[in-house]
Amino acid sequence: MTTPVFLPLEGGCTCGEVRYRLTSAPMFVHCCHCRWCQRETGTAFALNAMIEADRVHLLKGKVEIIDTPSNSGKGQKIARCPTCRIAVWSNYSGAGDTVNFVRVGTLDTPDRLPPDIHIFTMSKQPWVAIPPGMPAVEEYYDRAIYWPKESLERRNAVQATRRNV
Ligand SMILES: [Zn+2]
Ligand SMILES: [Zn+2]
Repeated sequence: MTTPVFLPLEGGCTCGEVRYRLTSAPMFVHCCHCRWCQRETGTAFALNAMIEADRVHLLKGKVEIIDTPSNSGKGQKIARCPTCRIAVWSNYSGAGDTVNFVRVGTLDTPDRLPPDIHIFTMSKQPWVAIPPGMPAVEEYYDRAIYWPKESLERRNAVQATRRNV
């Protein structure tokens, strides 16, 4: 299998004030079925692409960071357009500001980032059918088991820079 050439992914908010570009493929994509994501999105799940924060370039506008409660109790920072308030990404306490959880639905071509895993399926809406063979876990999971080696190395590199701060 040949590695596909990565074409930059771009996205933005609804009013057009905020535009961003991902300069590489994400490390991993979560489809999260937890109640918190259902409430935040107003729908059945959230699709989050995890990528190093320095690989997300703001092309236009500025984001407003809103402190928001999270499932872990440690909170998340949601980056929103200051005008239309659409959420473009979040930072969770685990990886801090170094990893952005980009809301896949804000990309111009969201079809390019299907989920790598379904998580918190214990609260999955019953009508959502997960394709056979697709990784799915009732709650959370061990990265070492599911992530590709290259993504684990990228995540470790991010953690190393955090420790030096
Ligand atoms: Zn906007
Ligand atoms: Zn969730």
